Amino acid sequence: MSILIKGGTVIGPTGAQPADVLVDGETIVAIFAPGKGPEGPGPEVIDATGKYVIPGAVDAHTHMELPFGGTHASDTFDTGTRAAAIGGTTTIIDFAVQRTGEVVQDGLAAWHGKAGGNCHIDYAFHMILGGVDDDALKAMDQLVASEGITSFKLFMAYPGVFYSDDGQILRAMQKARENGAMIMMHAENGPAIDVLVKQALERGETDPIYHGLTRPQELEAEATSRAIWLASVAADCPLYIVHLSASKALEQVKAARDLGRNVFAETCPQYLYLTLEDQLGAPGFEGAKWVCSTPLRSKHESHRADLWQGLRTNDLSVVSTDHCPFCMKDQKELGLGDFSKIPNGIGSVEHRVDLLYQGVVDGKLSLARWVETIATTPARMFGLYPKKGIIAPGSDADIVLYDPNGRTRISVETHHMNMDHSAWEGWEIAGKVDTVMSRGEVIASGGEYTGRKGRGKYVPRALSEYLV
Ligand SMILES: [Zn+2]
Ligand SMILES: [Zn+2]
Repeated sequence: MSILIKGGTVIGPTGAQPADVLVDGETIVAIFAPGKGPEGPGPEVIDATGKYVIPGAVDAHTHMELPFGGTHASDTFDTGTRAAAIGGTTTIIDFAVQRTGEVVQDGLAAWHGKAGGNCHIDYAFHMILGGVDDDALKAMDQLVASEGITSFKLFMAYPGVFYSDDGQILRAMQKARENGAMIMMHAENGPAIDVLVKQALERGETDPIYHGLTRPQELEAEATSRAIWLASVAADCPLYIVHLSASKALEQVKAARDLGRNVFAETCPQYLYLTLEDQLGAPGFEGAKWVCSTPLRSKHESHRADLWQGLRTNDLSVVSTDHCPFCMKDQKELGLGDFSKIPNGIGSVEHRVDLLYQGVVDGKLSLARWVETIATTPARMFGLYPKKGIIAPGSDADIVLYDPNGRTRISVETHHMNMDHSAWEGWEIAGKVDTVMSRGEVIASGGEYTGRKGRGKYVPRALSEYLV
């Protein structure tokens, strides 16, 4: 069946252009000057007048069902990908987990087991290595060669859970340099943070805000810098810093990029908008909703302005959500009386497209840059391009019609994520996702979901196409 999306303005990384888009089956087959597409009986027509026509967004950082802190992230692949779809995201890259002592391939098989048959949109995986040894290094080759997994996340934080020491990190980077993979880094100095956490708890500082105060930006900047230099020793192994939140960490990335290094970073909507004082410091235990790592930063420093600027200058290349939702009841509440026991994570997979469009309205991002940071660059960065991330002949027909005149009000009453609260409760922002198409099928329209569980497919990834 063919569909003609008519009368809209197509937005891509090079700008905006009025054009009609012809879809045949699961694929975009042609782009026409307005009104120049096939006439008469033929394709079904979707009227996109007054709408932006953008590539389905790619969220390169989600954690569906992640086991963490004695519980699991509250969205399953079913609930999480459905919410993502309604919000205009048509591909996620989730993190399969190898826990310390586990066989890498077993961790991957477990993730295929969770996701298979449950996703509403297409999905891919990164692999978390919970410890680097000879077996894990061999597994990296196998995953790159045969499993479509070309990026590996390591942790400089969470000693005893996911932590890798510098020697392990260097070995994984050397391996990645050989096989072409990307190393993704959770860059916070975990052992130093653990000292500060212990000292805070000994002083009786137990409220959620101390989660942020015991993870100062210096320890994010130091780890970011260390990761960058370790990657340099590994012959410029491609390095991607996840969830960058702090100005001083951004400075490290910027300096490396100015040297022409293959160093990249993402940030997340929470760091662009929310703060240590206003959210994490909310009265009582309320701040637990915003406990995530890296933490929200102080509004009295220039983090948010610096991150927006980093997005403009491409020192920050991608905006992902780090979607890792936990309910307050029975989950976040595990940390009542001890902030260090609050499960870390915020759920935003449904809202990223809208939250970043607000940046366009506020004059902080161009339309082209909006699409680039939420769709095109993540697809290029992680080997999904040009199948995903662009409106072009031959690409998957993952398309969002976006209404720039609509408004989105965010609330736990109306969101589709499996959470008993929203980190964005009451926010009313410009723009609205109107229609979402995934591989040629309309799966959401006017806020109504029309897709189905299990239609999403696993997408094996190629190597990054974003290296310098
Ligand atoms: Zn992380
Ligand atoms: Zn994460």
